[in-house]
Amino acid sequence: MKFSAIPGLTETKKLLIDAVRGNHTAHAQLFVGTEGALNLPLALAFATYLHCENKGEDDACGVCAACSKNLKYIHPDTHFVFPLSNVKNDKDEDRFKAEITKSWRSFLQEQPFGNLNDWTNYYGGEDKQALISREESREIIKTLSLKPFESPVKVMIIWQPELMHPSAANGILKILEEPAPHTYFILVSNAADRLLPTIISRTQIVTVPLLHDEEVEQYLVEKLAVEASKAGKIVQLAEGNLNLAQTLIDSPEDDNTKRFTEWMRACYKRNYGSLVAMADSYHDLDKLSQKNMMAYSMNMMRESLLAASSATAMNRVRGEELKFVQDFSKVMTLEKIEKSVTLLNDATYHLERNGSAKMIFLDLSLKISSTINP
Ligand SMILES: [Zn+2]
Repeated sequence: MKFSAIPGLTETKKLLIDAVRGNHTAHAQLFVGTEGALNLPLALAFATYLHCENKGEDDACGVCAACSKNLKYIHPDTHFVFPLSNVKNDKDEDRFKAEITKSWRSFLQEQPFGNLNDWTNYYGGEDKQALISREESREIIKTLSLKPFESPVKVMIIWQPELMHPSAANGILKILEEPAPHTYFILVSNAADRLLPTIISRTQIVTVPLLHDEEVEQYLVEKLAVEASKAGKIVQLAEGNLNLAQTLIDSPEDDNTKRFTEWMRACYKRNYGSLVAMADSYHDLDKLSQKNMMAYSMNMMRESLLAASSATAMNRVRGEELKFVQDFSKVMTLEKIEKSVTLLNDATYHLERNGSAKMIFLDLSLKISSTINP
């Protein structure tokens, strides 16, 4: 990946490039961002830049031998460590490793803005917590003891170091203390608060902010040919998360408006018959639409929160949606809305862990119903 393939983040890119050009790149860096921040793509672009044989002022050349390998994620001096959950593994270890590496490369090509959940779905991981194992950390140490193959430097990208097994983390700590010469570590984390403080203190922190709405919108319109009016709506829901914005492109959002309004009415009126029927039709949606419906509902709750706190000027919804939000906020207190947001959050969490969509939706409906209309 090149820097130019990543929208926005002008200052962060410049900071990284200037460090390389000024020859003061830290040997261990921690790229930190919340869920949806483009810190992994940034690490990929940075690795490309470090290896590039003909670095430009603001990007890698994209055509030299090193670039062409890095753009396919097959450069022998760019190493990756990433979490895996238990995968059925009846093959011998080398074959398994080769297959996972292949999946990882194509995942980066196809979904460079993807998150851990996308990755787990991509390689068919089981519904278990993904981890970076102790074996993996031994592998890192072994790799680092070798000289670079083609480039003057080696780059080791560790994605989600917060998911390192404690003994793996201790192994890494030793290397971070005395990094091998010509080796650059890039730790890419979405939850730096879960990292060992000793790891954080040994790295230089690069904070990667979420994108601005305009940057997400521009990307959708220019790169993905999304209609401007639709892009405007998606941006409201995505809140700077490009990965989420991309998944929202295919969602039938007009249905969501209708579905959400009817759902809330049924909750308010305690119309249990309708709620059961809705749980059935929710169950029949594909996984992505289910997820989008939750994201949409969450956004409508937040919009209602604004309306209920008389901050209508900050409302981002328009037209029919705004009308609903205004009416809805009259029957809701701030407390009720906050509780509903928590309930939606919990439901999303369970959906992601593959619980029964019907049961989750029905349970959520009953809880929201008794929250709105106790
Ligand atoms: Zn190049």
